[in-house]
Amino acid sequence: MKRIGAHVSAAGGVENAPLNAAEIGATAFAMFTKNQRQWQAKPLTQESIEAFRDNLAQVGIAPRFVLPHDSYLINLGHPEPAALKKSRAAFLDEMQRCEQLGLELLNFHPGSHLKKVSEEESLVLVAESINRALDSTRGVTAVIENTAGQGSNLGYRFEHLAMIIDRVEDKARVGVCLDTCHTFTAGYDLRSREACDRTFGEFAEIIGFDYLRGVHLNDSKPDLGARVDRHESLGKGKLGWEVFRYIMNDDRFDEIPMVLETIDDSLWPEEIRQLYALQTEPAQS
Ligand SMILES: [Zn+2]
Ligand SMILES: [Zn+2]
Repeated sequence: MKRIGAHVSAAGGVENAPLNAAEIGATAFAMFTKNQRQWQAKPLTQESIEAFRDNLAQVGIAPRFVLPHDSYLINLGHPEPAALKKSRAAFLDEMQRCEQLGLELLNFHPGSHLKKVSEEESLVLVAESINRALDSTRGVTAVIENTAGQGSNLGYRFEHLAMIIDRVEDKARVGVCLDTCHTFTAGYDLRSREACDRTFGEFAEIIGFDYLRGVHLNDSKPDLGARVDRHESLGKGKLGWEVFRYIMNDDRFDEIPMVLETIDDSLWPEEIRQLYALQTEPAQS
């Protein structure tokens, strides 16, 4: 079955996230385990960890349907050694927070070469960063998100993600998250059934659906190939509904967290309802 939710608030403590998810009718969710715009964070308290686990069990969402997102400051492909070291330490902290919460996934953007080294050199650093984090943790899978390719961000080609995975030693603990907005603005069309066949076919060939561990369900403000990251509410952007109908009726997207990061959180309950309603569309086989 399809597991749909949104990136919900953890304000007041991580233990509030499962409750916020349940409130909007979610069966999966994303969250930050710390303030995403700061390097430092206080460790999670034992009280907060226990409350999170209790609340998660209470709302009936399995840990594998929770897709935490790391801080936006982290750059695992940073070309400068001191900054790379800082990012790697922060990433390890994020992985350990997931471990403490009993979660199995950590979603992150690959990184940025900052125009100081080649894409390939930076991708090698990303893979090495992942290897180090996996070596020091257990049970948490590193889930690389594809990006819009804004600025010098890596990860806008499926080949980038494949190149990273190729260099990760523990293949069982690396995966990818596809963001529909990022995919589209990176230049992969998703506006029709045929376009989805082509784009997801390419994904299957270059990366493989075995590695797909999550999806971000977003419409897009910018047009195809704009290389700009601006999300829009479902059906209100340049993507339209077809890609969501496609995903909701394709069993390659079963049993993974699929979360909204759309801009108007007051619409989330309705967007979740609309997504499930797409499953009965007769246009799909
Ligand atoms: Zn992201
Ligand atoms: Zn995303």
